[in-house]
Amino acid sequence: MESGSADSHVNAQWERVCGRLRSEIGEAAYQSWLKPMTLREVFGGQVRISVPTRFMRDWILAHYVNRLCALWQGEDSSVQSVDVFVQPERSRRPAADKPAAAVQSKPPAAAGGGEDYHRNISAPLDPRFVFDRFVVGKPNEFAHAAASRVAEAAAVPFNPLFLYGGVGLGKTHLMHAIAWYIRKKDPARTVIYLSAEKFMYRFIRALREQNTFDFKDQFRSIDVLLIDDVQFISGKESTQEEFFHTFNALVDQGRQIVVSADKSPSDLEGMEDRLKSRLNCGLVADIHATTYELRLGILQSKAEQLGVDDVPSKVLEFLAHKITANVRELEGALNRVVAHAQLIGREICLETIQEVLHDLLRANDRRVTIEEIQKRVASHFNIRVTDMSSARRARSVARPRQVAMYLAKQLTSRSLPEIGRKFGNRDHTTVMHAVKKIDELRDQDSAFAEDVELLRRLLEG
Ligand code: ADP
Ligand code: MG
Repeated sequence: MESGSADSHVNAQWERVCGRLRSEIGEAAYQSWLKPMTLREVFGGQVRISVPTRFMRDWILAHYVNRLCALWQGEDSSVQSVDVFVQPERSRRPAADKPAAAVQSKPPAAAGGGEDYHRNISAPLDPRFVFDRFVVGKPNEFAHAAASRVAEAAAVPFNPLFLYGGVGLGKTHLMHAIAWYIRKKDPARTVIYLSAEKFMYRFIRALREQNTFDFKDQFRSIDVLLIDDVQFISGKESTQEEFFHTFNALVDQGRQIVVSADKSPSDLEGMEDRLKSRLNCGLVADIHATTYELRLGILQSKAEQLGVDDVPSKVLEFLAHKITANVRELEGALNRVVAHAQLIGREICLETIQEVLHDLLRANDRRVTIEEIQKRVASHFNIRVTDMSSARRARSVARPRQVAMYLAKQLTSRSLPEIGRKFGNRDHTTVMHAVKKIDELRDQDSAFAEDVELLRRLLEG
Protein backbone atom coordinates (compact mmCIF):
# COMPACT_ATOMS: atom_id res chain seq x y z
CA MET A 1 0.00 0.00 0.00
CA GLU A 2 1.32 3.37 -0.94
CA SER A 3 0.11 6.88 -0.41
CA GLY A 4 -0.15 9.13 -3.39
CA SER A 5 -0.68 12.82 -3.53
CA ALA A 6 -3.30 12.86 -0.79
CA ASP A 7 -2.60 14.73 2.44
CA SER A 8 -1.65 13.17 5.74
CA HIS A 9 -5.17 13.02 7.12
CA VAL A 10 -6.33 11.07 4.11
CA ASN A 11 -3.21 8.95 4.28
CA ALA A 12 -4.02 7.98 7.83
CA GLN A 13 -7.54 7.00 6.79
CA TRP A 14 -6.11 4.96 3.92
CA GLU A 15 -3.76 3.17 6.27
CA ARG A 16 -6.61 2.28 8.59
CA VAL A 17 -8.74 1.01 5.70
CA CYS A 18 -5.88 -1.16 4.53
CA GLY A 19 -5.15 -2.35 8.03
CA ARG A 20 -8.72 -3.55 8.45
CA LEU A 21 -8.87 -5.21 5.10
CA ARG A 22 -5.55 -6.84 5.81
CA SER A 23 -6.86 -8.42 8.98
CA GLU A 24 -10.01 -9.53 7.17
CA ILE A 25 -8.43 -11.19 4.16
CA GLY A 26 -5.14 -12.39 5.60
CA GLU A 27 -1.49 -11.64 4.98
CA ALA A 28 -1.01 -13.55 1.72
CA ALA A 29 -3.88 -11.88 -0.09
CA TYR A 30 -2.84 -8.55 1.36
CA GLN A 31 0.69 -8.92 -0.02
CA SER A 32 -0.60 -9.88 -3.46
CA TRP A 33 -3.42 -7.44 -3.93
CA LEU A 34 -3.37 -4.59 -1.50
CA LYS A 35 0.27 -3.79 -1.15
CA PRO A 36 0.64 -2.79 -4.80
CA MET A 37 -2.23 -0.29 -4.59
CA THR A 38 -1.47 3.43 -4.55
CA LEU A 39 -3.97 5.94 -3.26
CA ARG A 40 -4.13 8.72 -5.80
CA GLU A 41 -6.92 11.01 -4.81
CA VAL A 42 -10.04 11.42 -2.72
CA PHE A 43 -12.26 13.97 -4.38
CA GLY A 44 -15.98 14.58 -4.92
CA GLY A 45 -17.00 11.45 -3.06
CA GLN A 46 -14.70 9.30 -5.12
CA VAL A 47 -11.59 7.45 -3.97
CA ARG A 48 -9.13 6.81 -6.77
CA ILE A 49 -6.59 4.03 -6.45
CA SER A 50 -3.99 2.92 -9.00
CA VAL A 51 -2.50 -0.51 -9.49
CA PRO A 52 0.36 -1.55 -11.78
CA THR A 53 -1.49 -4.01 -14.01
CA ARG A 54 -4.82 -4.54 -15.67
CA PHE A 55 -4.99 -7.99 -14.25
CA MET A 56 -4.70 -6.64 -10.74
CA ARG A 57 -7.32 -4.02 -11.37
CA ASP A 58 -9.81 -6.64 -12.59
CA TRP A 59 -9.13 -8.80 -9.59
CA ILE A 60 -9.57 -5.99 -7.11
CA LEU A 61 -12.74 -4.81 -8.82
CA ALA A 62 -14.15 -8.31 -8.70
CA HIS A 63 -13.19 -9.12 -5.12
CA TYR A 64 -12.37 -6.18 -2.95
CA VAL A 65 -13.82 -2.98 -4.26
CA ASN A 66 -17.13 -3.18 -2.37
CA ARG A 67 -15.39 -3.94 0.86
CA LEU A 68 -12.91 -1.12 0.26
CA CYS A 69 -15.76 1.27 -0.34
CA ALA A 70 -17.61 0.22 2.82
CA LEU A 71 -14.47 0.60 4.91
CA TRP A 72 -13.87 4.05 3.46
CA GLN A 73 -17.38 5.08 4.29
CA GLY A 74 -16.58 4.11 7.88
CA GLU A 75 -13.78 6.69 7.76
CA ASP A 76 -15.47 9.30 5.65
CA SER A 77 -19.21 9.18 5.12
CA SER A 78 -19.03 11.42 2.04
CA VAL A 79 -17.30 8.69 0.04
CA GLN A 80 -19.61 7.10 -2.52
CA SER A 81 -17.38 5.02 -4.74
CA VAL A 82 -13.91 3.58 -5.18
CA ASP A 83 -12.33 3.69 -8.60
CA VAL A 84 -9.38 1.47 -9.46
CA PHE A 85 -7.30 2.25 -12.52
CA VAL A 86 -4.11 0.99 -14.10
CA GLN A 87 -0.92 2.95 -13.88
CA PRO A 88 1.94 0.83 -15.16
CA GLU A 89 5.02 0.35 -13.02
CA ARG A 90 7.25 2.58 -15.04
CA SER A 91 5.20 5.70 -14.68
CA ARG A 92 4.68 5.07 -10.97
CA ARG A 93 8.36 5.48 -10.41
CA PRO A 94 9.98 8.86 -10.08
CA ALA A 95 11.18 9.13 -13.65
CA ALA A 96 14.01 11.57 -14.18
CA ASP A 97 12.38 13.16 -17.19
CA LYS A 98 8.98 13.50 -15.56
CA PRO A 99 9.39 14.93 -12.06
CA ALA A 100 5.72 15.90 -12.00
CA ALA A 101 4.73 12.23 -12.01
CA ALA A 102 6.69 11.51 -8.86
CA VAL A 103 3.83 11.74 -6.46
CA GLN A 104 4.37 8.77 -4.23
CA SER A 105 5.83 9.33 -0.82
CA LYS A 106 7.70 6.06 -0.48
CA PRO A 107 10.60 4.79 -2.57
CA PRO A 108 9.48 2.47 -5.39
CA ALA A 109 11.15 -0.58 -3.87
CA ALA A 110 8.62 -0.47 -1.05
CA ALA A 111 5.78 -0.95 -3.49
CA GLY A 112 4.35 -4.43 -3.85
CA GLY A 113 4.90 -4.38 -7.59
CA GLY A 114 8.52 -3.31 -7.21
CA GLU A 115 11.89 -5.03 -7.27
CA ASP A 116 11.46 -7.41 -4.34
CA TYR A 117 8.26 -8.69 -5.80
CA HIS A 118 10.09 -9.75 -8.94
CA ARG A 119 13.57 -10.51 -7.79
CA ASN A 120 12.78 -14.04 -6.75
CA ILE A 121 11.53 -15.05 -10.18
CA SER A 122 14.71 -14.12 -12.02
CA ALA A 123 17.57 -16.61 -12.17
CA PRO A 124 20.94 -15.19 -11.14
CA LEU A 125 23.08 -13.69 -13.87
CA ASP A 126 26.62 -14.85 -14.53
CA PRO A 127 28.95 -11.90 -13.91
CA ARG A 128 31.21 -13.03 -16.74
CA PHE A 129 28.43 -12.94 -19.32
CA VAL A 130 28.63 -9.29 -20.30
CA PHE A 131 28.97 -7.58 -23.68
CA ASP A 132 32.57 -6.61 -22.97
CA ARG A 133 33.53 -10.24 -22.78
CA PHE A 134 31.70 -11.36 -25.87
CA VAL A 135 34.02 -11.74 -28.84
CA VAL A 136 32.33 -10.75 -32.07
CA GLY A 137 33.05 -12.47 -35.37
CA LYS A 138 31.26 -13.28 -38.60
CA PRO A 139 29.17 -16.16 -37.16
CA ASN A 140 27.68 -14.11 -34.34
CA GLU A 141 27.86 -10.51 -35.46
CA PHE A 142 24.21 -10.28 -36.40
CA ALA A 143 22.98 -11.83 -33.16
CA HIS A 144 25.35 -9.60 -31.22
CA ALA A 145 24.16 -6.48 -33.02
CA ALA A 146 20.53 -7.39 -32.38
CA ALA A 147 21.21 -8.05 -28.71
CA SER A 148 23.05 -4.74 -28.31
CA ARG A 149 20.20 -2.97 -30.01
CA VAL A 150 17.68 -4.40 -27.57
CA ALA A 151 19.91 -3.51 -24.64
CA GLU A 152 20.54 0.07 -25.72
CA ALA A 153 17.23 1.02 -27.28
CA ALA A 154 14.92 3.38 -25.44
CA ALA A 155 11.84 1.95 -27.15
CA VAL A 156 11.30 -1.71 -28.06
CA PRO A 157 13.04 -2.13 -31.44
CA PHE A 158 11.55 -5.54 -32.29
CA ASN A 159 9.51 -8.01 -30.37
CA PRO A 160 10.52 -10.61 -29.63
CA LEU A 161 14.20 -10.92 -30.31
CA PHE A 162 14.62 -14.60 -31.05
CA LEU A 163 18.19 -15.90 -30.77
CA TYR A 164 18.98 -19.38 -31.90
CA GLY A 165 21.97 -21.60 -32.51
CA GLY A 166 23.71 -24.79 -31.44
CA VAL A 167 24.94 -25.64 -27.98
CA GLY A 168 27.68 -23.50 -26.48
CA LEU A 169 27.68 -20.78 -29.11
CA GLY A 170 26.85 -17.89 -26.80
CA LYS A 171 23.05 -17.58 -26.58
CA THR A 172 22.93 -17.51 -22.80
CA HIS A 173 25.93 -15.20 -22.73
CA LEU A 174 24.12 -12.67 -24.93
CA MET A 175 20.91 -12.88 -22.92
CA HIS A 176 22.70 -12.25 -19.64
CA ALA A 177 24.57 -9.41 -21.31
CA ILE A 178 21.29 -7.76 -22.28
CA ALA A 179 19.97 -8.18 -18.75
CA TRP A 180 23.12 -6.79 -17.12
CA TYR A 181 23.18 -3.85 -19.46
CA ILE A 182 19.59 -2.81 -18.90
CA ARG A 183 19.73 -3.34 -15.15
CA LYS A 184 22.75 -1.11 -14.96
CA LYS A 185 21.49 1.56 -17.32
CA ASP A 186 18.01 1.72 -15.90
CA PRO A 187 17.68 0.05 -12.48
CA ALA A 188 14.01 0.97 -12.32
CA ARG A 189 13.14 -1.44 -15.11
CA THR A 190 12.23 -4.94 -14.06
CA VAL A 191 14.41 -7.34 -16.03
CA ILE A 192 13.70 -11.01 -15.58
CA TYR A 193 15.88 -13.77 -16.99
CA LEU A 194 15.00 -17.42 -16.65
CA SER A 195 15.10 -20.67 -18.54
CA ALA A 196 11.94 -22.01 -20.09
CA GLU A 197 12.38 -24.96 -17.79
CA LYS A 198 12.25 -22.72 -14.70
CA PHE A 199 9.27 -20.95 -16.18
CA MET A 200 7.52 -24.27 -16.46
CA TYR A 201 8.35 -25.37 -12.92
CA ARG A 202 7.15 -22.08 -11.51
CA PHE A 203 3.96 -22.43 -13.44
CA ILE A 204 3.41 -25.99 -12.25
CA ARG A 205 4.09 -24.97 -8.69
CA ALA A 206 1.62 -22.12 -8.98
CA LEU A 207 -0.97 -24.56 -10.29
CA ARG A 208 -0.32 -26.94 -7.45
CA GLU A 209 -0.46 -24.24 -4.83
CA GLN A 210 -3.47 -22.67 -6.52
CA ASN A 211 -1.49 -19.52 -6.87
CA THR A 212 -1.82 -18.87 -10.58
CA PHE A 213 -3.11 -15.36 -10.10
CA ASP A 214 0.11 -14.37 -8.41
CA PHE A 215 2.05 -16.15 -11.07
CA LYS A 216 0.27 -14.42 -13.92
CA ASP A 217 0.49 -11.10 -12.27
CA GLN A 218 4.19 -11.38 -11.51
CA PHE A 219 4.97 -12.29 -15.07
CA ARG A 220 2.69 -9.74 -16.63
CA SER A 221 4.19 -6.75 -14.92
CA ILE A 222 7.73 -7.19 -16.17
CA ASP A 223 9.57 -4.67 -18.37
CA VAL A 224 12.01 -7.04 -20.03
CA LEU A 225 11.50 -10.79 -20.05
CA LEU A 226 14.29 -13.09 -21.25
CA ILE A 227 13.42 -16.77 -21.64
CA ASP A 228 16.31 -19.10 -22.39
CA ASP A 229 16.11 -22.46 -24.18
CA VAL A 230 12.46 -22.27 -25.10
CA GLN A 231 12.71 -25.61 -26.93
CA PHE A 232 12.35 -27.12 -23.48
CA ILE A 233 8.61 -26.52 -23.49
CA SER A 234 8.13 -28.39 -26.78
CA GLY A 235 5.29 -30.81 -26.34
CA LYS A 236 4.30 -29.28 -23.00
CA GLU A 237 0.95 -27.90 -23.90
CA SER A 238 -0.32 -26.09 -20.86
CA THR A 239 3.04 -24.42 -20.27
CA GLN A 240 3.03 -23.29 -23.88
CA GLU A 241 -0.45 -21.96 -23.45
CA GLU A 242 0.56 -19.99 -20.37
CA PHE A 243 3.70 -18.74 -22.05
CA PHE A 244 1.66 -17.68 -25.06
CA HIS A 245 -0.65 -15.58 -22.91
CA THR A 246 2.19 -14.09 -20.91
CA PHE A 247 3.92 -13.30 -24.17
CA ASN A 248 0.89 -11.57 -25.65
CA ALA A 249 0.16 -9.62 -22.49
CA LEU A 250 3.70 -8.27 -22.40
CA VAL A 251 3.86 -7.47 -26.09
CA ASP A 252 0.53 -5.65 -25.85
CA GLN A 253 1.95 -3.49 -23.11
CA GLY A 254 5.02 -2.73 -25.18
CA ARG A 255 7.42 -4.70 -23.00
CA GLN A 256 10.52 -6.31 -24.48
CA ILE A 257 10.80 -10.07 -24.84
CA VAL A 258 13.93 -12.01 -25.74
CA VAL A 259 13.78 -15.73 -26.40
CA SER A 260 16.49 -18.24 -27.19
CA ALA A 261 16.30 -21.74 -28.61
CA ASP A 262 18.45 -24.33 -30.30
CA LYS A 263 16.42 -24.06 -33.52
CA SER A 264 14.60 -21.42 -35.51
CA PRO A 265 10.95 -20.86 -34.58
CA SER A 266 9.74 -22.75 -37.65
CA ASP A 267 11.91 -25.74 -36.84
CA LEU A 268 10.77 -26.08 -33.24
CA GLU A 269 8.99 -29.40 -33.20
CA GLY A 270 6.15 -29.96 -30.76
CA MET A 271 5.43 -26.25 -30.52
CA GLU A 272 1.98 -24.88 -31.18
CA ASP A 273 1.67 -23.07 -34.50
CA ARG A 274 0.30 -19.88 -33.00
CA LEU A 275 3.26 -19.72 -30.62
CA LYS A 276 5.71 -20.41 -33.44
CA SER A 277 4.24 -17.65 -35.51
CA ARG A 278 4.36 -15.27 -32.56
CA LEU A 279 8.02 -16.13 -32.01
CA ASN A 280 8.65 -15.45 -35.67
CA CYS A 281 7.09 -12.00 -35.57
CA GLY A 282 10.01 -9.98 -34.31
CA LEU A 283 13.63 -10.35 -35.25
CA VAL A 284 15.07 -13.83 -35.64
CA ALA A 285 18.86 -13.95 -35.37
CA ASP A 286 20.91 -17.10 -35.56
CA ILE A 287 24.37 -17.75 -34.25
CA HIS A 288 26.32 -19.87 -36.71
CA ALA A 289 28.95 -22.44 -35.91
CA THR A 290 32.25 -20.80 -35.02
CA THR A 291 34.94 -20.17 -37.58
CA TYR A 292 38.64 -20.65 -37.01
CA GLU A 293 39.16 -16.90 -36.73
CA LEU A 294 36.44 -16.47 -34.11
CA ARG A 295 37.78 -19.38 -32.08
CA LEU A 296 41.24 -17.90 -32.13
CA GLY A 297 39.86 -14.50 -31.09
CA ILE A 298 37.96 -16.07 -28.22
CA LEU A 299 41.02 -17.99 -27.06
CA GLN A 300 43.14 -14.85 -27.06
CA SER A 301 40.56 -12.97 -25.08
CA LYS A 302 40.12 -15.81 -22.57
CA ALA A 303 43.86 -16.20 -22.10
CA GLU A 304 44.01 -12.51 -21.32
CA GLN A 305 41.19 -12.85 -18.79
CA LEU A 306 43.00 -15.75 -17.16
CA GLY A 307 45.97 -13.46 -16.79
CA VAL A 308 48.26 -15.68 -18.81
CA ASP A 309 50.14 -13.93 -21.57
CA ASP A 310 52.72 -16.61 -22.25
CA VAL A 311 50.62 -19.14 -24.12
CA PRO A 312 52.49 -19.55 -27.40
CA SER A 313 50.38 -18.57 -30.40
CA LYS A 314 51.11 -22.00 -31.89
CA VAL A 315 49.20 -23.52 -29.01
CA LEU A 316 46.21 -21.21 -29.40
CA GLU A 317 46.17 -21.91 -33.11
CA PHE A 318 46.29 -25.61 -32.49
CA LEU A 319 43.33 -25.43 -30.10
CA ALA A 320 41.32 -23.21 -32.45
CA HIS A 321 41.99 -25.67 -35.20
CA LYS A 322 41.15 -28.80 -33.24
CA ILE A 323 38.33 -27.90 -30.86
CA THR A 324 35.59 -26.89 -33.21
CA ALA A 325 32.36 -28.07 -31.63
CA ASN A 326 31.54 -25.17 -29.33
CA VAL A 327 32.95 -22.34 -27.32
CA ARG A 328 32.31 -24.01 -23.99
CA GLU A 329 34.65 -26.87 -24.92
CA LEU A 330 37.17 -24.44 -26.27
CA GLU A 331 37.18 -22.57 -22.97
CA GLY A 332 37.40 -25.82 -21.05
CA ALA A 333 40.39 -26.90 -23.12
CA LEU A 334 42.22 -23.67 -22.51
CA ASN A 335 41.50 -23.84 -18.79
CA ARG A 336 42.86 -27.33 -18.59
CA VAL A 337 45.98 -26.48 -20.52
CA VAL A 338 46.68 -23.43 -18.37
CA ALA A 339 45.98 -25.26 -15.12
CA HIS A 340 48.29 -28.07 -16.18
CA ALA A 341 51.09 -25.71 -17.10
CA GLN A 342 50.80 -23.90 -13.77
CA LEU A 343 50.74 -27.15 -11.90
CA ILE A 344 53.85 -28.63 -13.41
CA GLY A 345 55.49 -25.21 -13.69
CA ARG A 346 56.53 -25.69 -17.26
CA GLU A 347 55.81 -23.73 -20.40
CA ILE A 348 52.90 -24.86 -22.48
CA CYS A 349 53.95 -26.62 -25.64
CA LEU A 350 52.21 -28.61 -28.33
CA GLU A 351 53.27 -32.02 -27.02
CA THR A 352 51.96 -31.47 -23.55
CA ILE A 353 48.59 -30.20 -24.76
CA GLN A 354 48.09 -33.23 -26.96
CA GLU A 355 48.58 -35.32 -23.87
CA VAL A 356 46.47 -33.19 -21.55
CA LEU A 357 43.63 -32.99 -24.02
CA HIS A 358 43.75 -36.34 -25.70
CA ASP A 359 40.14 -37.23 -24.81
CA LEU A 360 38.78 -33.88 -25.97
CA LEU A 361 40.77 -33.98 -29.18
CA ARG A 362 39.53 -37.46 -29.98
CA ALA A 363 35.92 -36.47 -29.39
CA ASN A 364 36.31 -33.49 -31.67
CA ASP A 365 37.98 -35.55 -34.34
CA ARG A 366 35.01 -37.81 -34.57
CA ARG A 367 32.52 -35.09 -35.40
CA VAL A 368 31.67 -35.13 -39.06
CA THR A 369 29.85 -32.55 -41.08
CA ILE A 370 27.08 -33.20 -43.56
CA GLU A 371 29.34 -31.87 -46.31
CA GLU A 372 31.99 -34.46 -45.50
CA ILE A 373 29.38 -37.18 -45.52
CA GLN A 374 28.09 -36.05 -48.89
CA LYS A 375 31.58 -35.95 -50.36
CA ARG A 376 32.56 -39.32 -49.04
CA VAL A 377 29.36 -41.05 -50.07
CA ALA A 378 29.38 -39.44 -53.51
CA SER A 379 32.91 -40.61 -54.21
CA HIS A 380 32.11 -44.07 -52.86
CA PHE A 381 29.20 -44.47 -55.27
CA ASN A 382 30.91 -42.59 -58.03
CA ILE A 383 28.42 -39.79 -58.43
CA ARG A 384 28.89 -36.04 -58.35
CA VAL A 385 28.64 -34.23 -55.04
CA THR A 386 26.20 -31.79 -56.63
CA ASP A 387 23.80 -34.66 -57.12
CA MET A 388 23.39 -34.81 -53.36
CA SER A 389 21.28 -31.70 -53.67
CA SER A 390 20.07 -32.04 -57.26
CA ALA A 391 16.51 -32.89 -58.21
CA ARG A 392 17.54 -36.01 -60.13
CA ARG A 393 15.57 -39.05 -59.08
CA ALA A 394 17.30 -41.86 -60.98
CA ARG A 395 17.98 -44.77 -58.62
CA SER A 396 21.76 -44.50 -59.24
CA VAL A 397 21.68 -41.06 -57.70
CA ALA A 398 18.74 -41.28 -55.35
CA ARG A 399 20.03 -44.29 -53.42
CA PRO A 400 23.44 -42.82 -52.55
CA ARG A 401 21.64 -39.63 -51.58
CA GLN A 402 19.51 -41.63 -49.19
CA VAL A 403 22.59 -43.30 -47.75
CA ALA A 404 24.12 -39.89 -47.13
CA MET A 405 20.94 -38.65 -45.43
CA TYR A 406 20.92 -41.76 -43.31
CA LEU A 407 24.52 -41.25 -42.24
CA ALA A 408 23.89 -37.58 -41.61
CA LYS A 409 21.13 -38.56 -39.20
CA GLN A 410 23.34 -41.17 -37.53
CA LEU A 411 26.58 -39.27 -37.28
CA THR A 412 25.59 -35.66 -36.70
CA SER A 413 23.25 -34.00 -34.26
CA ARG A 414 21.39 -32.20 -37.01
CA SER A 415 17.62 -32.30 -37.03
CA LEU A 416 15.64 -33.78 -39.92
CA PRO A 417 14.67 -30.36 -41.33
CA GLU A 418 18.28 -29.19 -41.14
CA ILE A 419 19.45 -32.28 -42.97
CA GLY A 420 16.72 -31.83 -45.55
CA ARG A 421 17.88 -28.31 -46.24
CA LYS A 422 21.45 -29.43 -46.88
CA PHE A 423 20.19 -31.86 -49.48
CA GLY A 424 18.78 -29.33 -51.91
CA ASN A 425 16.08 -28.01 -49.59
CA ARG A 426 14.22 -31.23 -49.28
CA ASP A 427 11.45 -31.72 -46.80
CA HIS A 428 12.13 -33.41 -43.46
CA THR A 429 9.70 -36.18 -44.41
CA THR A 430 11.99 -37.05 -47.32
CA VAL A 431 14.85 -37.49 -44.87
CA MET A 432 12.65 -39.56 -42.59
CA HIS A 433 11.72 -41.75 -45.52
CA ALA A 434 15.37 -42.15 -46.50
CA VAL A 435 16.34 -43.24 -42.99
CA LYS A 436 13.57 -45.82 -42.95
CA LYS A 437 14.40 -47.07 -46.43
CA ILE A 438 18.11 -47.55 -45.68
CA ASP A 439 17.28 -49.33 -42.43
CA GLU A 440 15.09 -51.75 -44.37
CA LEU A 441 17.68 -52.33 -47.06
CA ARG A 442 20.35 -53.05 -44.46
CA ASP A 443 18.14 -55.74 -43.01
CA GLN A 444 17.45 -57.31 -46.39
CA ASP A 445 20.82 -57.08 -48.06
CA SER A 446 23.94 -57.89 -46.11
CA ALA A 447 26.32 -56.61 -48.81
CA PHE A 448 24.55 -53.29 -48.72
CA ALA A 449 24.69 -53.27 -44.91
CA GLU A 450 28.44 -53.80 -45.07
CA ASP A 451 28.82 -50.97 -47.52
CA VAL A 452 27.03 -48.57 -45.24
CA GLU A 453 29.00 -49.81 -42.25
CA LEU A 454 32.26 -49.25 -44.09
CA LEU A 455 31.26 -45.71 -44.96
CA ARG A 456 30.34 -45.05 -41.38
CA ARG A 457 33.67 -46.26 -40.10
CA LEU A 458 35.55 -44.22 -42.67
CA LEU A 459 33.64 -41.11 -41.69
CA GLU A 460 34.07 -41.65 -37.99
CA GLY A 461 37.80 -41.94 -38.55
P1 ADP B 1 24.63 -21.44 -25.29
O1 ADP B 1 23.70 -20.76 -24.35
O2 ADP B 1 24.46 -20.98 -26.70
O3 ADP B 1 24.64 -22.92 -25.16
P2 ADP B 1 26.64 -20.08 -23.72
O4 ADP B 1 26.15 -18.70 -23.86
O5 ADP B 1 26.36 -20.77 -22.43
O6 ADP B 1 26.11 -20.98 -24.92
O7 ADP B 1 28.20 -20.11 -24.03
C1 ADP B 1 29.05 -21.15 -23.61
C2 ADP B 1 30.34 -20.58 -23.11
O8 ADP B 1 31.06 -20.02 -24.19
C3 ADP B 1 30.15 -19.47 -22.11
O9 ADP B 1 31.13 -19.56 -21.11
C4 ADP B 1 30.33 -18.19 -22.92
O10 ADP B 1 30.84 -17.15 -22.16
C5 ADP B 1 31.32 -18.64 -23.97
N1 ADP B 1 31.13 -17.94 -25.24
C6 ADP B 1 30.31 -18.26 -26.26
N2 ADP B 1 30.42 -17.41 -27.29
C7 ADP B 1 31.33 -16.50 -26.91
C8 ADP B 1 31.91 -15.35 -27.54
N3 ADP B 1 31.54 -14.98 -28.77
N4 ADP B 1 32.84 -14.66 -26.86
C9 ADP B 1 33.22 -15.04 -25.63
N5 ADP B 1 32.74 -16.10 -24.98
C10 ADP B 1 31.80 -16.83 -25.60
MG1 MG C 1 22.40 -21.61 -22.97
